[in-house]
Amino acid sequence: MTIATRTMRAAMIREHGDSDRLQLEEVPIPSAAPGDLLIRVGAVGLNHLDVFTRQGLEGPGIPPITLPHVSGVDVAGTVAEGPTAGQRVLVNPAIGCGACRQCRRGEISMCPNYTILGEHRWGGLAEYATVPATNAIPLPDHVEFTVAAALPATYTTAWRGMVTVGRVRPGERVLIVGASGGVGCAALQIGVLVGAEVLATASTSAKRQRALELGAVAAFDSRGDWLTEVMDWTAGEGVDLVHDAVGAPTWRRSIQSLAMGWLSAASSFRKSTPCTHSRASPKRRMRSTGASTSARS
Ligand SMILES: [Zn+2]
Repeated sequence: MTIATRTMRAAMIREHGDSDRLQLEEVPIPSAAPGDLLIRVGAVGLNHLDVFTRQGLEGPGIPPITLPHVSGVDVAGTVAEGPTAGQRVLVNPAIGCGACRQCRRGEISMCPNYTILGEHRWGGLAEYATVPATNAIPLPDHVEFTVAAALPATYTTAWRGMVTVGRVRPGERVLIVGASGGVGCAALQIGVLVGAEVLATASTSAKRQRALELGAVAAFDSRGDWLTEVMDWTAGEGVDLVHDAVGAPTWRRSIQSLAMGWLSAASSFRKSTPCTHSRASPKRRMRSTGASTSARS
């Protein structure tokens, strides 16, 4: 019996709704299309995207989820068949067509046919998943699947926000808004790694303590007046870069916390480049920009 004729267990979504819509089912193992690899899933990360796909997130520009569906964005595992069978891999969930202008310049998330593993095609909440061979990154033996599967969605997004887009530099003062979430936590660690002076907001004392343990120089209560605390801590100067992983509830205060700075990423904000973001922006020479799950940079 070939692997393609066998079945696998998968967390199926046959209709949108709450978590009771998730059903553990026995379904056929998917066949790998030309250019794809069949991966035996070793570990899969959980993200808010799993909730969004289960609930059927709707909005402008958001393609509908085709049901039935299997979510699971972050996959680490072993190539199940083919010339590279047995190879341990981490899967980059950002999938472009590979041929268009945006893909050729490395901006995969801007590809007109951009898809995300686990959102637009079946993901890793199953025993097997098929992925484009070009998205499978060899994984060293010493990296556990559970560690690897924690990386892709959050760390590539945070890297893009902090480094590719935010251009964080050693010695810069960076504010991470929402530092206890997956992307925020990754952004905090990247900022510390670069040598920036990282400030953080988080909702509980335990989360703020964790932010300090990860290298933040200060952590403020996200439910309190953290804008005033940031401005006091910086003697009224503000920060050079804000990475805001929260969104609308914090957007205005994030902008106000900038010295003459940038706002970058899943939203980050930074200084020094003209923009028309708000009345305050030209004066502060701010630039705001966005960043989504990245290719590899
Ligand atoms: Zn493309």
